Amino acid sequence: MIIINADIITWEENNRIVKNGAIVFQEDRIVEIGPLREMIEKYKQETIMDAHGAFIMPGSICAHTHFYGAFSRGMAIPGEAPKDLVEILEKLWWPLDKSLTEDAVKYSALVCQIDAIRHGTTTLIDHHASPFALENSLDIIADTVEQSGLRAVLCYEVTDRDGIAKAEAGIAENVRFIQALRKEPKPRIRATFGLHASLTLSDETLKKARKACPDEIGMHIHVAEGLADEDDSLRKSNMRVAERLSKHNILGSHAILAHAVHVNDHEMDIIARSKAWVTHQPRSNMNNAVGLPDVDKMLLKGIKVGMGNDGFSNTMWDEWKAAYLSHKLINSDPRRMQADTIAGMAAYTNADLVTQQYGQTVGKIVPGAQADLIIVEYQPFTKLTPENLPWHIIFGFNESMIRSTIVAGKVLMEDRKLVSMNEKSITEEAKVLSEEIWNHYKSRFM
Ligand SMILES: [Zn+2]
Repeated sequence: MIIINADIITWEENNRIVKNGAIVFQEDRIVEIGPLREMIEKYKQETIMDAHGAFIMPGSICAHTHFYGAFSRGMAIPGEAPKDLVEILEKLWWPLDKSLTEDAVKYSALVCQIDAIRHGTTTLIDHHASPFALENSLDIIADTVEQSGLRAVLCYEVTDRDGIAKAEAGIAENVRFIQALRKEPKPRIRATFGLHASLTLSDETLKKARKACPDEIGMHIHVAEGLADEDDSLRKSNMRVAERLSKHNILGSHAILAHAVHVNDHEMDIIARSKAWVTHQPRSNMNNAVGLPDVDKMLLKGIKVGMGNDGFSNTMWDEWKAAYLSHKLINSDPRRMQADTIAGMAAYTNADLVTQQYGQTVGKIVPGAQADLIIVEYQPFTKLTPENLPWHIIFGFNESMIRSTIVAGKVLMEDRKLVSMNEKSITEEAKVLSEEIWNHYKSRFM
């Protein structure tokens, strides 16, 4: 296929905007980018898609999300509102994940992926929990990813909060899924090994998980999201969270550490040395009132910081905007968190993380990279250059401008019409199911 009449944003190391260009891809890969006439002449046989002067750029990447939380939308928490992160977990997320059935796991994943396609998020790194629909849950999600056509990295969160048997079943589910993918690889799906957080994991379970997780697979875990995680770790081990996880060999160059809000300098040094990835989710941090991580310091120390959405809507540019505003406010300093720093995280580091996970270039428009593309109808009324693009994204871009979404060379949304998913029937079914899940959830409060 050849897409013509496009201004192409490449997100290369030295970012380029190719004006009035064309992009050619065959199968799942980008073949060539260049001037319109030259490309049309050279690739006469290819099917043509006309971008009508819109921008084409790599699809957004979400480095940490939770499909399973979809049915929390609009759901009331009984009784008094939770007062901190631990209460939010106890009153909202844990009773909700215990309420999930296999059907709910499936439809939560489906509705999140419709949202992702519509809003141009083409790769998602998911962290799943459904203690009463645990076995084969990652297969259920993988099937939905096969259907949607998106790219997703999956894991099951191991935790002791439901007893040893469930912790072991969680470990087994990660191992089973990793082995199944080895036996029968799926081009758009990868696995990490999920752990909930230090505060719900005993030393024994950490040891078992470490032993079970193959060396080449990274752990995906929440780290010091709230202060309670640090307090618990100090009580349990006399070590801070990153020290404790490091001692258990959980960190490493493939590990994904979500949040890292409360890590101190010493922990940042441990994380930097381990080469683990950190993901930043400012909307979630604000929603849970846990504070914000010192991203500037982490970046200075050489930590690879990417961005996720922690289950918020798959509008990653909203996450950019939240980062841009929140760090200025919390530090009372408008010099903090500039837009190019955010592009460094959300566009560049996320692409590096996903490229590592897949072993193929994702998140850039260069020959040989995966053809994960979005067409964006943005009409700038001031000059737009590669240098000021991040500020245009913060102040001008909006996910409603996304007209088409392509993943691995397949068109998943064209002119705002979904190709791979039947949105109406999926959302109708989800609505019926969500009522059942809300009732399960409420019964856990009786
Ligand atoms: Zn999370």
